[in-house]
Amino acid sequence: MAGGQAPDFEAWETLMLQASRQGGAGVLGSLLTHWQRQASRPAIWCGCGERMSSRGWRPKRLWTTLGGVPFGRSFYQCARCRQGRFPDDERLDIVQTSYSPGVRRLMARAGSQTQFEQAAEDLRCYAGLHLEPREIERVAEEVGREVEQWLGKEQEQIRHTGGVTAAPQLAANTKFYISFDGTGVPVRKSELVGRPGKQADGSARTREAKLGCVFTQVGLDKEGHPQRDPDSTTYVGAIESSTLFGWRMYAEAVRRGLDQAKTVIALTDGQRYNHTIVQTHFANAVHIVDLFHAYEHLTGIAQLLWGQEAKAPKAWRNWLEAGDIPRLVAQAGRQLPASTQSKKTLLQQLHYFEKNATQMRYAQFRQKKFFVGSGVVEAGCRTVIGERLKQSGMRWSVRGANAIIALRCCIMSGRFEDFWAARTR
Ligand SMILES: [Zn+2]
Repeated sequence: MAGGQAPDFEAWETLMLQASRQGGAGVLGSLLTHWQRQASRPAIWCGCGERMSSRGWRPKRLWTTLGGVPFGRSFYQCARCRQGRFPDDERLDIVQTSYSPGVRRLMARAGSQTQFEQAAEDLRCYAGLHLEPREIERVAEEVGREVEQWLGKEQEQIRHTGGVTAAPQLAANTKFYISFDGTGVPVRKSELVGRPGKQADGSARTREAKLGCVFTQVGLDKEGHPQRDPDSTTYVGAIESSTLFGWRMYAEAVRRGLDQAKTVIALTDGQRYNHTIVQTHFANAVHIVDLFHAYEHLTGIAQLLWGQEAKAPKAWRNWLEAGDIPRLVAQAGRQLPASTQSKKTLLQQLHYFEKNATQMRYAQFRQKKFFVGSGVVEAGCRTVIGERLKQSGMRWSVRGANAIIALRCCIMSGRFEDFWAARTR
């Protein structure tokens, strides 16, 4: 046989995989039938209090990770109010769906990672599943809403009891960071009615998704700069009011061990609602306004005064780095821009520094080895939201976008397995 023709190894692989799927689907079908035969049959009660009775066997299509499996189950109905139930579907977690839990988990994960057409292609290649993109969209969004419900329950528990049963242990010298920011998600026209926007004609194209993250820091890098604890970042986010988002952020922080943290730092870009959230939920936190945003505003002032190419004078930048905001504002305020409009804009810019002065004591913050930039949450806005929800041509419903955001936050926070285990409990 030596020197004989080389086998088509990959064709063998494919054949064997198909054969094992088919065989597996057969066994799975038998398992289900066996379970149905020997399962105890407790009485089935209707919500109205009446005992329901079986109206016979109903077949349904069931798609599993091994392929189609023949399946049937008893249909129960209430004689009084006509309400119907499929108790076996309830016990197998396949109520009103023809996809097994295993397939739905794959659909949710794939649909959260990439556009639904691509997800369908991925699942065909990786798992041999033939699914319509629209189905993946529907199931992924459904699972995303289940994630929201799960988080909602957790949030409610935290709001009512003020804590969680199993917050992680933090090292005594942990610096606990909370950071949040917003990013525009393109939505359908119907989601924008009556909302002013930034387009030339005053209309809007996007709705703001708020993203929050929690991370911790213990050590410093070789240069003595603060270093984020590896894998310590978790995310929460939604298109929602700042009031609701504040609670979401708070619940996540409590879950992560906020109550044990001796040093809490809130990193934001200094918008008005940022202050409200920090004062409401994180009153003991050191609030820091992102240094790079502060620099942008400083450059903005220089350009107002001296033209598009201008940079802020060295002295101003030094005062900013030193956190000497009163001096910076006093000096910059002495300059007089040409037009009334520029004057107005200049005053707005100065006001940004005035109202954030306490949050800009950068020299002090650096001495304490705190992060002074909100790079983590900004990167999060790109990876968690941008990469999936801001691709060209996308137009989301708020409901759909929120489901996918919830799903992505859950996965990227490493909580998807916990969620999945909890949903069947
Ligand atoms: Zn009834």
